[in-house]
Amino acid sequence: MEIVKDVVCPFCGCLCDDGEVMVENGGVTGTKNLCRIGHAKFMHSAHKSSRHLDPHIRQENGELKKVDMDTAIEESARILVEANWPILYGWSATLCESQQKGIELTELVGGVFDNTAAVCHGPSLLAVQDRGYPTCSLDEAKNYADLVFYWGCNPVHAHPRHMSRYSIHARGFFREKGIHDRTMIVVDPRKTDSAKMADIHIQPYPGTDHILISALKMILNGVEPQQDVIAGVPKEQLYELVDIVGKHQFSVVFFGMGLTQSRGKHRNIDNAITLIADLNKHIKSVLVPMRGHYNVAGCNIVAAYETGYPFCVDFSKGYPTYNPGESSTIDMLTSESADAMLVCGADPGHSFPNKAVASMAKMPVININPVINPTDPVCDIIIPCAFGGVEHAGTGYRMDCMPMRLKEVVSPPEGIISDTEILKKIILNVKQML
Ligand code: SF4
Repeated sequence: MEIVKDVVCPFCGCLCDDGEVMVENGGVTGTKNLCRIGHAKFMHSAHKSSRHLDPHIRQENGELKKVDMDTAIEESARILVEANWPILYGWSATLCESQQKGIELTELVGGVFDNTAAVCHGPSLLAVQDRGYPTCSLDEAKNYADLVFYWGCNPVHAHPRHMSRYSIHARGFFREKGIHDRTMIVVDPRKTDSAKMADIHIQPYPGTDHILISALKMILNGVEPQQDVIAGVPKEQLYELVDIVGKHQFSVVFFGMGLTQSRGKHRNIDNAITLIADLNKHIKSVLVPMRGHYNVAGCNIVAAYETGYPFCVDFSKGYPTYNPGESSTIDMLTSESADAMLVCGADPGHSFPNKAVASMAKMPVININPVINPTDPVCDIIIPCAFGGVEHAGTGYRMDCMPMRLKEVVSPPEGIISDTEILKKIILNVKQML
């Protein structure tokens, strides 16, 4: 048995880089150090029953028929070339090399390059463009932060090693005693498992974060709010919170979709950024988004340096433009303005609203994905690919935008290639057809 060390986990935005993977007879047999979901990702690659091992094309009778890779690639290229306004969506559970090829392909076919940020931290990106971004690396948070907020997120379930590696439990250079050197505050309407671990749990009414942030800013700036209960939180508790802030040196606000996707969306993040500016008058303060997919941050970075925009990039005019709300996938699908779709590194069949999935079912959809997933039933072409970070190497960006090199731990099954190679072949076919 071989043990591959220092493996980066390609599941969530933590990109834990201390994994060990046991390999026997060319397959993964176990892991060490990873959490249960990271472990499951590696074991998934070994379960052949959960993957397509051949490309498939849907026939007129609705049945999927096994085809060879060249036929699937040629047919995919034809669909994209014939489409008026195709969407090339996903790109968060794949590596930067594939994202770059996805952008090249989108430009060639005059489509929209969009990623899963459109339904998670897209509002954070809009707010950062408006306000700037007082942030730090996860390592700085580990070494310096003595006051940790988790706002609208539940790391115990979504990022299981975040607290042990980068925040509450981690022993940092200036926080040697780990949890005994830190205070944890959770802001969440629900009593989540993360909230149960917190020193203080603030429970606002759902959808009232903007009001709560504004009240905190008022108190920090010496203005007393008029109401006794603000957003469901007693005023005294907010004064206590501000008092606690003053007893610390470095605060970090980790925020999730409870803030970005609740009422107010990017205005919540706008307001949170200005709250951080106000906190910085008293103690050093930063905020860091809790990115979900392992390389969603990478997609926004690659798209920004390739096109100038982080997501929702529209090439239909022959040059990149950007208009979230119009050139965002769910809006294009629900308004039925798109006429073809390529999905890579995402599973919209699982996460999109019914109306958007119903719209997908009416158009040709190509799905490039390593596993059988809920997007398959609305797809016309399924092209299986290798697992990025397990069966092929490449670059990913952690939630704090630190680039990491992901390894090839095992070879993919025979006949399966990476999505980067599949996209290169589609690009070649498209160039011949144009
Ligand atoms: Fe993988 Fe995330 Fe778990 Fe770390 S916390 S092992 S990156 S799933």
